[in-house]
Amino acid sequence: MDCHKIIKDTYVQILDIENKGAIATYIPELGKVDPAHFGVCLTTNDGTQYTAGDAHISFSIQSIAKVLSLSFALSLGHTSIWQRLDVEPSGSAFNSLVQLETENGIPRNPLINAGAIVVCDILCSHLKDPKNELIEYIRDVANDPTINFSDKIAQSEKSNGYRNVALVNFMKSFGNIKNDVNQVIDLYFYLSSIEMTCCQLSKTFGYLANGGKQLITNKEILTRSQSKRVNAIMQTCGFYDAAGVFAYHVGLPGKSGVGGGIVAVLPNAYTISVWSPKLNERGNSYRGMKFLELFTDTTHETIF
Ligand code: GLN
Repeated sequence: MDCHKIIKDTYVQILDIENKGAIATYIPELGKVDPAHFGVCLTTNDGTQYTAGDAHISFSIQSIAKVLSLSFALSLGHTSIWQRLDVEPSGSAFNSLVQLETENGIPRNPLINAGAIVVCDILCSHLKDPKNELIEYIRDVANDPTINFSDKIAQSEKSNGYRNVALVNFMKSFGNIKNDVNQVIDLYFYLSSIEMTCCQLSKTFGYLANGGKQLITNKEILTRSQSKRVNAIMQTCGFYDAAGVFAYHVGLPGKSGVGGGIVAVLPNAYTISVWSPKLNERGNSYRGMKFLELFTDTTHETIF
């Protein structure tokens, strides 16, 4: 397929439609982003990148980082993780508390806030310096030493993250948080604050299109079977209560964040990232969803 042409044509068509939705403002720092940004980058498994628009501007990847913290916990060999977390779609908002009460503090999956907080707890139990080791791990996966947390975003998350503080305390009351709640939620807020450009994001996620191996170097980030499982979790749980909508319209495993980013994977072929800050009513990038739908409708390449 002529990737360059399809990306450019799709970009122009989406740019033409009304930029609907609203930017996330519940974290004040996120509300400061220019809603007109729109970037795309596709990275093929041989490392070639095709871009359109603001593909080289850094943005807050937010919940997309939950895939990286899960990969870190899996790579440390902790299969016991699945006694404390499930792998079912939640059908609820990313920050929902309701299911936790009836399900004894066991989050539905690692890609909703409650699940990612349990993963942070697991990392706190097994790492000496969780915050630094987490960012070093992500730099290593990205093969890019410039990737960083944003202190501003992390502080903004901290001063407004009432629901996340509730979630960690609620799960602690069920015995599903082993460490100090403040340490765990601090790591979670920093995890949510990681910044990348579209090009860094699609390159970082290349291992999930490449059987668990980093692009170019072939270094093992996850085993082939772990990589299959992470893709399966993204497919079923990557879009909060809109995982079905994304599967139906786009047909690729992926993950979104409230910063307006989406990354999607076609195993054995490529990863594609899109960033446009305005979100639809379910908290996923409005243009990002539209772009990826038109893109896979044009290429006819999906996992279905
Ligand atoms: N900052 C986030 C939070 O409120 C992450 C949310 C997301 O991207 N869905 O926990």
